[in-house]
Amino acid sequence: MTPADRDRLLADVNAFCEELRPIEELCYVEHRQNERTIELAKKHNLLAMPLPGELGGRGADAVTYARALARIGREGTGVRTFFSGHTSIGEYPILRFGNAAQKQKYLPRAARGECIMAFGLTEPEAGSNPLELTSTYRRQGDRFLLNGVKYLISNGSIAGAVIVFAYPEGATGAKKRMSAFIVDTDGDTFEREDLPAKLGMFTANTGMFQMTDHPVPGENLLGEEGNGFRVAMGTLVSGRLSVAAGCVGVIEDCLAEALAYSQTRHQHGKPIGRHQLVQEHIAAIELHRAASEAMVERAATAKQASDDDPEDASLAAAADLQVAQAKLFAAGAAWDAADRAVQIFGGRGFSELYRVGRHLQDVRVCRIYEGTDEILKLKIASSLLGKDFAAFK
Ligand SMILES: Cc1cc2nc3c(=O)[nH]c(=O)nc-3n(C[C@H](O)[C@H](O)[C@H](O)COP(=O)(O)OP(=O)(O)OC[C@H]3O[C@@H](n4cnc5c(N)ncnc54)[C@H](O)[C@@H]3O)c2cc1C
Repeated sequence: MTPADRDRLLADVNAFCEELRPIEELCYVEHRQNERTIELAKKHNLLAMPLPGELGGRGADAVTYARALARIGREGTGVRTFFSGHTSIGEYPILRFGNAAQKQKYLPRAARGECIMAFGLTEPEAGSNPLELTSTYRRQGDRFLLNGVKYLISNGSIAGAVIVFAYPEGATGAKKRMSAFIVDTDGDTFEREDLPAKLGMFTANTGMFQMTDHPVPGENLLGEEGNGFRVAMGTLVSGRLSVAAGCVGVIEDCLAEALAYSQTRHQHGKPIGRHQLVQEHIAAIELHRAASEAMVERAATAKQASDDDPEDASLAAAADLQVAQAKLFAAGAAWDAADRAVQIFGGRGFSELYRVGRHLQDVRVCRIYEGTDEILKLKIASSLLGKDFAAFK
């Protein structure tokens, strides 16, 4: 990507965010999904930022894409989550693990907004340990029939296609290896519903779906049969980086809001920003911003190096570790930054009418999805201690 292309992309992202903001704010206070996000993202050509131009994308490298997601994250974790679901964990696995025909069939349509993407790993009984999933597939002629339920899926009830993970029906022991599929969501064998009872992110779609002998063409097997876990783990690196980048944006917005409010709100005869305990909050938010941004840039650089040479296991391990560190750190930092910003806003902070309160509600999920805090801590520690010390296999 040339510097001019990068500047154009980031300018388009900014224009998108400015146009989206008033609509997003209204949708949020009314607790309804923002139906215009896709149309505006399409208008500004943002539905496939890291994909190459020949597949309809903008050719963004990992660092530029992370900066774009940070800018989007300022508008809220909900809108950023839409992009993560569609691009970072929806389009990305096809780009990374798909064959030429799969890329041609899905990615240009996804880039044009004609096919929204999602990633379906989690199930009601399989979250932190995806190996416990119970979705199954069996062959029938030149197609597969899929059965199972996927739960808590971003874009899950608006997607035209979902990356789905399932085991061969009846397989046990060494034969029980999951595979990944690109699953079209049409037909009455694919039933879905919204999950609107959330603590935040009201403007974004979270859904669940059930597949009942749902037919999937044989050519939609993603990667080799039995290699689904590798597809899932490779995709989570992309997803985690997108979460971390979004958290940088949340912190930036909390800082901007906290500064403006501290300079204009007066109590005890002076702007509250002159009270030293308020300054302590501002200093802490700024440290969160600077540290998270640095960790995300480092992680994005490592991911780009791995994407450039996907067969190099040491590059992949470095990216995996640095992205996990960035996600764990930035999610915690964003949560604390939003909490401090709410404190600075006093009673107004405890309201969805103000940005900082909305950030606090929304950003909490970043410590849960794409690897909980606990799972990422275990991952980081065992990567230092060695495989023999893994807390779980
Ligand atoms: C809004 C939202 C959007 C989401 N989007 C998607 C999506 O697009 N695609 C998708 O596939 N999933 C998605 N998820 C699911 C998300 O990834 C899971 O919720 C997450 O992985 C945790 O799984 P769980 O909820 O089943 O919790 P559990 O796995 O049941 O964990 C419960 C608690 O136990 C802890 N725990 C579990 N195992 C261990 C261990 N070995 N050691 C220490 N602690 C442990 C966890 O850290 C957690 O604190 C989404 C979730 C939400 C809330």
